[in-house]
Amino acid sequence: MKKIAVLGSTGSIGTQTLEIVRANPDLRVVALAAGSSVEKMEAQVREFHPLIVGMWSEEAAKELRLRLADVDVRVVSGMEGLLEIAVFPQSEVLVTAIVGMIGIRPTIAAIEVGKAIALANKETLVTAGHLIIPLAKKHGVPILPVDSEHSAIFQSLNGEPSGKISRILLTASGGPFRGRTRKELQNVRVEDALKHPNWSMGKKITIDSATMVNKGLEVMEAKWLFGVERSRIQVVVHPQSIIHSMVEYVDGAIIAQLGVPDMKLPIQYALFYPDRRPLAGKRVDFFELGQITFEKPDLEAFPGLALAYRAIDAGGSLPTVYNAANERAVALFLEGKIGFLQIAELIETAMNLHQVIEEPSVEEILQVEAWTDEMIDKEVHQ
Ligand code: NAD
Ligand code: MG
Repeated sequence: MKKIAVLGSTGSIGTQTLEIVRANPDLRVVALAAGSSVEKMEAQVREFHPLIVGMWSEEAAKELRLRLADVDVRVVSGMEGLLEIAVFPQSEVLVTAIVGMIGIRPTIAAIEVGKAIALANKETLVTAGHLIIPLAKKHGVPILPVDSEHSAIFQSLNGEPSGKISRILLTASGGPFRGRTRKELQNVRVEDALKHPNWSMGKKITIDSATMVNKGLEVMEAKWLFGVERSRIQVVVHPQSIIHSMVEYVDGAIIAQLGVPDMKLPIQYALFYPDRRPLAGKRVDFFELGQITFEKPDLEAFPGLALAYRAIDAGGSLPTVYNAANERAVALFLEGKIGFLQIAELIETAMNLHQVIEEPSVEEILQVEAWTDEMIDKEVHQ
């Protein structure tokens, strides 16, 4: 029996994680946390019987306690609650399916008490990778990638030493606006940006895919997970999303992982690694597919990717600014307060104004986030 805790259980990755649990009776959910979806959380508690659950707001936690008066479960709230769930003694694996930098402190807390991490929450690694990777090594804790590209790289590496890698080929669908010029992106609406061609995901990452910031974050994520510098990570646009990423070795051999776009495979792989379990669902039919194609990313129409390269090369706290500015700008875009192109513009403005801190501590990372939020709000409301 493998006991798991899930941060962000009501979201896209969270609910698919619970689908895996449903199909595998040797997985047991002991702890769940979510933001504010009380109704969904109530249903999850009644189905999966965790011992502890957390809601971000105390108000939501109160309502959940009322609804679950007949159930023996502890309901906690806020950051304290997230931390309690992250270190919950009965769990062995923490699935970080929460969205945003809010995941930093719980992820670090879980590593410190020796939990394995199934990591979907890329924003945490992007901003605090320099702290998390050495900490995980120190505690002998595996960080198992859930992001489909990183799972594909992990599967393609299959234990080969990182010294034998010549390049990582990180595939990208190109999102809903692939092929458009910058001018054509000027007036795109929120509804258009939310229509991803191949994947159904949470709103924030769907917008990140439309701006290509998601691929920028994934280059950073790959750098930390696999210890490969940016110059050896190449983004390859592959609109069919069948090749989930590839590794090229020093002898020129390229190993790839292919499959239909379904996040349940990487989630399940992370939960059972090194075992492979059966997974129901569609399979790739190469005859139906006919062809797969490749393109260079368009850095002019999608400056979010070029800015990510700049942030990685400068290092220190600049990736935090890149990520925090994006989180704030995407929230403003979803609220209809800024246009699509302004997302990358705001990231750039924040990066230009920031004084880079080398090796920032958790406190400094969170201060940089607060500075960035304030700066962007000022910029938008002036
Ligand atoms: P989502 O918006 O669908 O779900 C986010 C979850 O986090 C929800 O359960 C929400 O309630 C919870 N949450 C948000 N704020 C919280 C807070 N303050 N406290 C507690 N819980 C909180 O997001 P998603 O698409 O599932 O993405 C989750 C993470 O996985 C992101 O980092 C994303 O980049 C990454 N990821 C997602 C996919 C995907 O297919 N959805 C693929 C790869 C990586
Ligand atoms: Mg991905």
